[in-house]
Amino acid sequence: MKNGKARTMISILCRYGELFLKGGNRGFFLRAMADNVRRAVRDLPDAKVSTPYGRILVRVPDAIREDACARVERVFGLVSVSAGAEAAPSIEAITATAVSEAQTAIARNPELGRSFKVETRRSNKHFPMRSHDIDCHVGGAVIDALGLRVDVHQPSLRIGIEVHSSAVYVFAEIRPAPGGLPVGVSGRGLLLLSGGIDSPVAGWLAAKRGLALEALTFHSPPFTGERAKDKVVSLLRILSRWQVATTLHVAHFTETQQRLREAGPAELAVVLYRRMMIRVADILCERARCQAIVTGENLGQVASQTLVNMANIEQAARRIVLRPLLTYDKMETVALARQIGTYDTSSLPYEDCCSLFVPAHPATAARLADIEAVEAKLDVAKEAAEIAAGCERIVV
Ligand code: ATP
Ligand code: MG
Repeated sequence: MKNGKARTMISILCRYGELFLKGGNRGFFLRAMADNVRRAVRDLPDAKVSTPYGRILVRVPDAIREDACARVERVFGLVSVSAGAEAAPSIEAITATAVSEAQTAIARNPELGRSFKVETRRSNKHFPMRSHDIDCHVGGAVIDALGLRVDVHQPSLRIGIEVHSSAVYVFAEIRPAPGGLPVGVSGRGLLLLSGGIDSPVAGWLAAKRGLALEALTFHSPPFTGERAKDKVVSLLRILSRWQVATTLHVAHFTETQQRLREAGPAELAVVLYRRMMIRVADILCERARCQAIVTGENLGQVASQTLVNMANIEQAARRIVLRPLLTYDKMETVALARQIGTYDTSSLPYEDCCSLFVPAHPATAARLADIEAVEAKLDVAKEAAEIAAGCERIVV
């Protein structure tokens, strides 16, 4: 290698699961996933992505192993990733690499040092040793060098060796990846993103099923401050690490919200706001070629989230409204928000525009005729078009 350890290249092997089920679409899914892996590491120096043997392989300098793994293990469609090294095709080289990869893995996570197992797969039938013999030879060397105990049933450390005809890979760690489908293969959607806990999680779940998203947030200055908007941008930035979305449309809602509020009874305000949000979303979907609107709504007892009102809200939409969190308990959503990394930001205490001018007890089962009577006092299509035209666009 060019100049010592820092320039040594390592290989990150990416595994995918469900894609195998997709028959004729397999090539399409694989290309999309490899493209997404490329996007994840695109700004890392000297990163190279290739697809040998139907695998996705990322090569990066050893010095940025952690950063590269942290990015790759967030790519939807992958079920696990293993960082390791390429070895020359000789048993001596394979053994030395296995010992050093095992050492690196244990240094990173001492828990792994309890017991181990070697698992060799040999597609190169010209290699002079059989898989089992490689396992035994390497296993003996690991026992001698590191004093580990063999456990073939529940090893804490698995040393994987893959002997292909053009390369040999050796790795000693398996990190879980989120699974799902590659972002983009299921189409495009627009996420209604508030600063709350739910909508970022809903977007993450939709992206995990292969939707490529843009986000739309409603903002009512001066009632909602700059910091409320910054919070949504921060959430988007966290979501972008998962490739959920990178574009945020910020809609200015203040005047329309006041007109809606003044046109009818306060009890209907929440449903009126939401229907207007949906109309604006529809217009942006048209422009951004999105086939679906995604929200963080949940089947609950708050006004906007009863079956009657969700139907009232959806009635204003011209395309499918997806609600990935519909059946989630709050505890489940919070656990996921923590895993994704959005929870702390979502918990910051800034106002959302939906709680403006809203009474303590909004209608939980509004009648559509009443809602439409209020809306008839405004030109709702024109209001929506104006809000959509006035959106600010932020790309992270
Ligand atoms: P969240 O935590 O996502 O805000 P919530 O449980 O607080 O959800 P609501 O506030 O009733 O529920 O919002 C329901 C959904 O409506 C949100 O998940 C989001 O998709 C959308 N929504 C609410 N407020 C806004 C906003 N200001 N901008 C964009 N979308 C919003
Ligand atoms: Mg909310």
